[in-house]
Amino acid sequence: MKENPLHFAEALEKLVELQATDSGLDELERLKKGFRQEITVLESHVAELKNRIQSEKKALEDLAKQRKTLEIEAGTLDTKITKYLGQQNEVKSNEQFTALKQEIEKGREEKAKAEEKVLEFLFKDDDQKAQIQKLTQELTQAEKRAAEDKKDIEQKIADCDKSAQEKRTERQKQLADLPEEFARGYEQLRNSGKKIAVARAQDDQTCSGCHMNIPPQILNEMRKNIAVQRCTCGRYLYTKD
Ligand SMILES: [Zn+2]
Repeated sequence: MKENPLHFAEALEKLVELQATDSGLDELERLKKGFRQEITVLESHVAELKNRIQSEKKALEDLAKQRKTLEIEAGTLDTKITKYLGQQNEVKSNEQFTALKQEIEKGREEKAKAEEKVLEFLFKDDDQKAQIQKLTQELTQAEKRAAEDKKDIEQKIADCDKSAQEKRTERQKQLADLPEEFARGYEQLRNSGKKIAVARAQDDQTCSGCHMNIPPQILNEMRKNIAVQRCTCGRYLYTKD
């Protein structure tokens, strides 16, 4: 069947228009993906801060436990010292007295060390609490900012969805307007992953879809200007004008 030149030109024009609509839809998808990534980044920043606060709180608990152990240790030493002091009054020999005296001194030294460490831990406690407070403030700000930004981004996504809906309606109309053969061929290309199904024969005689040289016989057929041509990659070809 010989194709009518007018029909051919019209069909190609419709294909180009359909491709423009679909490229628009692809671009909207790409934008949406970027927006969703932005939301993920915002959320992971907040989650990261929450995790840090959790581990700092855990460290504070550990500090308190260690301090408690030291306090008990100091208390035990104190009891021991009191006991030895009492025993000192009851000993019969000088040797026993000296031995007890040494024990008492040793006990006092150990107690002093334990108390010193308790103080150290108290200071660490304060630092730790200040750190937690700082992070908690950061978290509050980050959450506030994330909520605001998320609202903006979600609005952008909603705008994309609205445009996409319009484009899908448009696409259906354009597809229905195409001769069936081209509509089917076009859909096959798109479904096989060729986002660009209608490619331009570029000035350097390559296909804008596959970037390969277009075979001379196809270029000849295109010059005859009587039928829609396809590149060896399967894509429909058009020239700029
Ligand atoms: Zn090609």
